[in-house]
Amino acid sequence: MGVVGGEAGVDHPPPDPVVRLEGLTKDYGRHRALDGIDLTVGPGEIFGYLGPNGAGKTTTIRLLLGLLRPTAGRATVLGLDSWRDSTAVHARAGYLPGEPTMNGRLTGRELVSYFAALRRRPADVTSATGLADRFDLDLDRRIRALSRGNRQKLAIVQAFMSDPDLVVLDEPTSGLDPLVQQEFHQLLGETTARGATVLFSSHVLNEVDRVADRVGIIRQGRLVAVEHLADLRAKALHRVEARITGPVDLGPFRSLDGVRDLTVEDGVLRCGVPRPSLDGLIKALGRYPVADLSVTEADLEELFLAYYSEASADAA
Ligand code: ATP
Repeated sequence: MGVVGGEAGVDHPPPDPVVRLEGLTKDYGRHRALDGIDLTVGPGEIFGYLGPNGAGKTTTIRLLLGLLRPTAGRATVLGLDSWRDSTAVHARAGYLPGEPTMNGRLTGRELVSYFAALRRRPADVTSATGLADRFDLDLDRRIRALSRGNRQKLAIVQAFMSDPDLVVLDEPTSGLDPLVQQEFHQLLGETTARGATVLFSSHVLNEVDRVADRVGIIRQGRLVAVEHLADLRAKALHRVEARITGPVDLGPFRSLDGVRDLTVEDGVLRCGVPRPSLDGLIKALGRYPVADLSVTEADLEELFLAYYSEASADAA
């Protein structure tokens, strides 16, 4: 989308995407783990990468960071080819792996100092110390003596300590208690406020709901949907339960756009309807004496499952 600037006739091009995946494909032997993924993520975005176990999330992330070589297609970060220019990509990106492996004999401080030295950015140790304080993490304990949650905090510190332009997080909040998660979400907000981009994989849907701007849903190596969360919510089914006295003619309810699972049992009408059909539903209900009514918005989990079943129905 071109943005027309203040000067007449000047059309400023959109900023380059921070992440660009083009036909990204990865085979492990004869198994195609990733099949032609196309995706762009822009500056300042928080992108949630969702999918069930084995869908290809970690493979995508490893390709994006140049830790794996694509079978076909390419990944770029800030215009740099992830495989060919992986050293330059690593200098610009922070990474929190799904299962961080760390030398248990080191202390947290030794670990962050090592990364700061690798990057030739000694000031990163100060930044890491600030982050550790914020997450109440003792950097002077040996890593092997840290609990799983504290190790995860250390992995977060390591991913964010260099103020990277892109932060890639593989299942970042596993093992974190709710208070720490809250602090972590705040950190994500601050990161994008300074213009950096966050891409994180998750199967914790409520988490994505809280922090992401857009989500991509991956299933069996294919991206089945990329949506703004606001649009996804607009498609969400509302679960309706209405207690009605007397017999009900289901005809007007059946003709509502997108109505699902319509039943009447013991005087209770139940169905799922998307938001645009709510008005029609209320009008159809208006012909009956309604003794009780409840409307609940489906959570993201239901939406997600609906997407999956639609995608598998399409495939069939
Ligand atoms: P999870 O949420 O369980 O981590 P994921 O979405 O990250 O899953 P991937 O780890 O990317 O999925 O795996 C995608 C597919 O590729 C799976 O079928 C997996 O078994 C397979 N796979 C992953 N790594 C390898 C490997 N090194 N060799 C062979 N197959 C692999």
